[in-house]
Amino acid sequence: MSPAAGRDGVGLYCPAKINLRLRVGPTRTDLGGRHRLDTIYSAVGIWDRVELRPTEPGSGFRLSLEGEQLGDLNRRDADPHANLAVKALLAMAQATGHEPDVAIHIVKRIPVGAGLAGGSADAAGTMLGLNRLWNLGMAAADLDRIAASLGADLPFCLHGGLSRGTGFGQILEPLNPDGLQAQRLSRAGLTGHLLIGAYESQLSTAQVYKAFDLIGPGPHDLNDLQETACTLHPRSRQALDLARRAGIGPAFVSGSGPSVVVMAPRPEQTIALIKLWREQNAVDRIIEADSPVLPRMAPLRVTHG
Ligand code: ATP
Repeated sequence: MSPAAGRDGVGLYCPAKINLRLRVGPTRTDLGGRHRLDTIYSAVGIWDRVELRPTEPGSGFRLSLEGEQLGDLNRRDADPHANLAVKALLAMAQATGHEPDVAIHIVKRIPVGAGLAGGSADAAGTMLGLNRLWNLGMAAADLDRIAASLGADLPFCLHGGLSRGTGFGQILEPLNPDGLQAQRLSRAGLTGHLLIGAYESQLSTAQVYKAFDLIGPGPHDLNDLQETACTLHPRSRQALDLARRAGIGPAFVSGSGPSVVVMAPRPEQTIALIKLWREQNAVDRIIEADSPVLPRMAPLRVTHG
């Protein structure tokens, strides 16, 4: 490792994701027992910041977190090895033969366990950052392969933007912003400004899929996950109903929930919906953002001593 690389750090802004469409099929052995998905991912401008700094050789990794809403990451007994960013570091170290001597600091703004892929965003940011920090020059296909071994949303989080995902979500078909499909999504009001209704309670992705399996895939090969998420978390349904009854939308659950997304509200609709949601206590937090966006790398100031 060069002396400069020994000191320099890397900072990344890692966006959340929403699913503009999320159709789920049965589990399949050829997908490693995971559910077949057909989804449209869109990266959203709610940003976690991931900072990577080399630690003393042989001293291993360190993890620190900051943020107002750290959810279950804040638990005293939280195991750092369970953090997806650490899993990404260890997977990259193993794949490249580097020692995982890196301090990871995460400034968390993406709500945790919210269906917004915050963990995957941090892990993807860690992988992109290590590619720079360790001067790996790893090809996108190699990064994608490691990402897919860590989580279904992770390959998309490496790229951001707008993409169709099939397989278990890891086979990506990027949608060019000038292309026909992206323009169709834009005309349907599914890109641009949006409101997210978020909750203090988390919904575990595994729990939602389990409930989905109990209900069964139904008459169609691919079904929507929204109904299951709303059954497990009725306030999400309430928030969606309020938006729809006020004629504001499209409105849908993000991923496996419980967060709800309301697209492209005009300024007066935004104000009306925020008022409605607050009056009826339908959400705990309201976040405004734009989509689609790309992950961003930012140089980290070198600190000596
Ligand atoms: P999914 O990508 O499965 O839809 P999600 O968006 O619903 O996930 P996350 O915010 O990624 O939810 O958190 C899911 C679980 O992952 C949480 O219970 C949390 O403890 C764990 N986790 C591990 N690492 C992280 C991380 N860096 N940020 C957030 N959650 C993490």
